[in-house]
Amino acid sequence: MSRPHRAVVLGAGAAGLSAANRLAIHAGRGDADLEVVLVDRSTHHVFLPGFVSVLLDGAAADGFRRPLASLVRPGVRVVTGAVEGIDPGGGVVSGEFGELAFDSLVVALGAEVGWPGEAPVEDVTPWTEAGTRRGASLLGRLGPGDRVVVAPATPAYRCPPAVFDLAVRVRRRTGAEVTVAHPWPRPLAPFGEEPAARFEDMLAGAGVRFVGGFQLAEAAPGRLRSQAGAVLDCDAAMVVPPHRSPAAVAASVLAGDGGWMAVGYPGLSHPDFPHVYGVGDVVAPSLRVGMAGTLGVFEGAFVAGRIVEAAGGPPAGPAPRMAAICFVDQETTGSFLHCDFSGPAAGTGPARCTLMPDLPYFRRARRLFAEEWFASTIGGEVA
Ligand SMILES: Cc1cc2nc3c(=O)[nH]c(=O)nc-3n(C[C@H](O)[C@H](O)[C@H](O)COP(=O)(O)OP(=O)(O)OC[C@H]3O[C@@H](n4cnc5c(N)ncnc54)[C@H](O)[C@@H]3O)c2cc1C
Repeated sequence: MSRPHRAVVLGAGAAGLSAANRLAIHAGRGDADLEVVLVDRSTHHVFLPGFVSVLLDGAAADGFRRPLASLVRPGVRVVTGAVEGIDPGGGVVSGEFGELAFDSLVVALGAEVGWPGEAPVEDVTPWTEAGTRRGASLLGRLGPGDRVVVAPATPAYRCPPAVFDLAVRVRRRTGAEVTVAHPWPRPLAPFGEEPAARFEDMLAGAGVRFVGGFQLAEAAPGRLRSQAGAVLDCDAAMVVPPHRSPAAVAASVLAGDGGWMAVGYPGLSHPDFPHVYGVGDVVAPSLRVGMAGTLGVFEGAFVAGRIVEAAGGPPAGPAPRMAAICFVDQETTGSFLHCDFSGPAAGTGPARCTLMPDLPYFRRARRLFAEEWFASTIGGEVA
């Protein structure tokens, strides 16, 4: 009797859970004979956009965390432990769990967020859990007259609109003088004229200053310096920590530019290893797309279809749905930015983005986003 096709998924974030659960749906339907293994160093999945609500609305962090066991479908075997080595040619991954052989591999390890070595400035942003806690406490100490600079340390970071959102909310909440210092010439410049103009208005309306062309070179408490030598003095620096490729990917033969996993479009597999797929943040820089969990969910579901086809099942769709939404909350109203990234991923043109009107309902929709996330989004139903 032939053994089942073993699909190993590395990382139980948005993209990995979507891939593993989608594979389990296919296996349950009898589309292919599959064994699905999901590996993560953590026993829990965290809804990262929830950190914004923890920092700014006093929401409980535990509300955005669920045990993996409660999120995987029957048929997905969860292995806990850090991945340390990936050998695509040998068909083996290794780590704290020992060695694990695969027929197909999905790399969904996300991004490492944090400073290599000692942080030059304390992280007080919602891009990490510790930063979220410190940011909430900082907020209580800021007031009118304080100068706050919000700046990303690297051009690629999760949910690009969130930097501007954070600046507006800090300004409205504390009355501090807030500046966004950003590498882009205009807010949301890569996302098109309409979102850029609307975000300029949003910042101006809230009294937030924008400094463009600011590629961070050096951060120190009270002072940020750009690569071009511009200096911004401040009382509080809210610097989005650097986003880097996960060490296990950067050290492997899968690494492409900047250590991020190289991947082809539309297949989302590595150019030299067609049975090794990359989804989510770990391939976002290679695909020239934004880092968004909603996009990773579509990519995960798509590669599940490709693995099923490779295992003798029905043919997969021709291309993943390259859509993402990032929510925007301005204290009293909200909105969301929807982008179709097929153009940049295929190298045929820019992202096509729409910014929804500012409406109070979208603040409520943001809360429902988390509920829906756990109920269906990462469950393999969204494709
Ligand atoms: C403040 C904020 C707001 C956001 N808002 C939105 C939004 O509105 N819309 C949206 O679409 N996205 C949003 N995002 C972005 C979204 O959260 C990320 O893009 C998404 O989580 C990426 O999914 P992923 O599966 O690629 O990576 P992750 O979710 O990071 O998952 C990676 C998984 O791999 C595991 N892992 C990593 N390294 C190892 C290892 N060596 N061994 C074993 N396991 C490992 C991790 O534990 C993790 O579970 C936001 C993010 C932040 C921080």
